[in-house]
Order: sequence, then structure tokens, then C-alpha cells
Amino acid sequence: MTKPDGTYPSTCWECSTRCGSLVTLENGHVTKVGPNKDHPGSKGAFCVKGIRALPELTYSENRIRSPMRRVFPATHQILLRRIMPIIRNALKAMQGPQRAATRV
Ligand code: SF4
Repeated sequence: MTKPDGTYPSTCWECSTRCGSLVTLENGHVTKVGPNKDHPGSKGAFCVKGIRALPELTYSENRIRSPMRRVFPATHQILLRRIMPIIRNALKAMQGPQRAATRV
């Protein structure tokens, strides 16, 4: 369901800071992302990554729209239900500090 045109409070997910944002929608598309000075945590702080990432990544022709698997030297699409067991087994096989540093 698409919201009507307008500016809505939201949260930037480009890094773990989670700054408060204001997202402007026009005809179902994000046309502007900016700081939300009324957000209790970030209080208007916002960086260029947050301003540019959502519109540029969301509408990029190069956006990856399905899981991809690299089997050197090629990369190909793979179904999510097929890649999840592969990821699970690879994580189980990791040992030591590498395992602790893994975040999915
Ligand atoms: S605006 Fe910048 S600092 Fe804030 S959550 Fe987004 S990327 Fe992180």
C-alpha cells in the first residue's frame, strides 16, 4: 500500500546510529530524505550517507533484487530457500574470532 504524497518521519538504516529522518514521497517515490530535528535521539543530526543512500540505492538500475551466489568466477541468482542452508553451513564451519565477528 502506497502512502499519499507528503513528508513522513522515519529512521535511517544506513548504519547502526539509526538517525531520525524525514522522508518525502511523491507519486509513490521517495524524492527527498533529510534530518528530523524533532527526533529524540539524533535531534536533527544527519549525514550525507543518509541523505543520498535511500533514493539512490532504492531506484538504482544496478540494485540487486534477489539473492546472489558467487561461484568463482561467475555470480548467479539463487533462491533464498536454497542459499540459507549454504550460509548456515558456512557459518557453522567458521571457528575462532572469525565466527564471533560474523553478523547476518
Ligand atoms: S544519517 Fe548517517 S549517521 Fe545517521 S543513521 Fe544514517 S548513515 Fe548513520
